[in-house]
Amino acid sequence: PLTANQIAAGEVVERPVSVVKELIENAIDAGSTRVKITVWEGGMKRIQVSDNGCGISPGDLNIAILRHATSKIETVQDLNCLHTLGFRGEALPSIAAVSKLAITSRLQNSSVGYMIQVKDGHSGEISEIGTPVGTEVTVDQLFYNTPARKKFLKTPVTELGQISDLVGRMALSRPDISFALMDEKKVILKSPGNSDLAQAIYAVYGGEIARNMKEISHEGFPRISGFVTLPQSTRSSRHYYNFFINGRWVKSQELASSLEEAYHTRIPDKRFPVAVIHLVLDPELFDVNVHPAKLEIKFKDISPIKEALLRSVQSVFAVPSN
Ligand code: ADP
Ligand code: MG
Repeated sequence: PLTANQIAAGEVVERPVSVVKELIENAIDAGSTRVKITVWEGGMKRIQVSDNGCGISPGDLNIAILRHATSKIETVQDLNCLHTLGFRGEALPSIAAVSKLAITSRLQNSSVGYMIQVKDGHSGEISEIGTPVGTEVTVDQLFYNTPARKKFLKTPVTELGQISDLVGRMALSRPDISFALMDEKKVILKSPGNSDLAQAIYAVYGGEIARNMKEISHEGFPRISGFVTLPQSTRSSRHYYNFFINGRWVKSQELASSLEEAYHTRIPDKRFPVAVIHLVLDPELFDVNVHPAKLEIKFKDISPIKEALLRSVQSVFAVPSN
């Protein structure tokens, strides 16, 4: 029979990409400027995420893996470590319940690091270890103890593809942070960090696309900034739409069709642009379905956003000549 933690894990941890997402969000919450993700066999064999953030104290290492023990809402005593993305205190216990988890961490101002391992839901002793400042989480053999879940995993190539899409979106959402994704020793993606959106786009999509983009912007409400490709670099699917609201990647049919309408008033072909668009919006104006695996967004009123997208796109693309 499944333990309570294993059942709850189903909510947070569906596949390797969900583990990677939670670990990256923790790294971002810890104030990291460098996040390195390494996966083996599409993450099914092993996932390792290391960061240069604020670290976890040896005392907190123990409770970080206990369910609900570490909700960031309750643990705000460490002002150097600003938490925003996580709030449930559920990810690490959930991951620990369905894998072999190890955490190594060293606090910014500490001369020594500490490590803890969890196996079969039980954590071992905390031991001292030499390690750089920051945190490294290693997740081995995901779903080794829940074969029914393991059966739903796809091929390593498919799982890696999802992880690569995720890391790309993370890099586009935070150009200030350097992300590196490795497939064992092979570099899949590397963003420079400490830089602007154009550089992040270059890292994620390459020069051919980056060079063929126009910058769009809209001041006031809603604030819009981003890049949309010229017709010579369009794509045959909407897969290359990236929308971020207040820094978080979101999925939205309404934003997608608003962009398309605006784009096609100027670029009258049937193909789709590559688009990376950041919107700054009052949180009152939309609802996010906060299921950890989804980020579907519902707007109270899409029309001002649609209007702003239309104007910002039309102001940089010329009126088509017949
Ligand atoms: P949540 O992110 O919702 O608080 P998690 O289970 O993801 O819950 O993480 C538990 C706690 O462990 C976090 O609140 C944080 O205090 C700590 N933690 C996890 N990962 C890191 C990290 N990479 N750097 C610093 N602290 C971390
Ligand atoms: Mg978290």
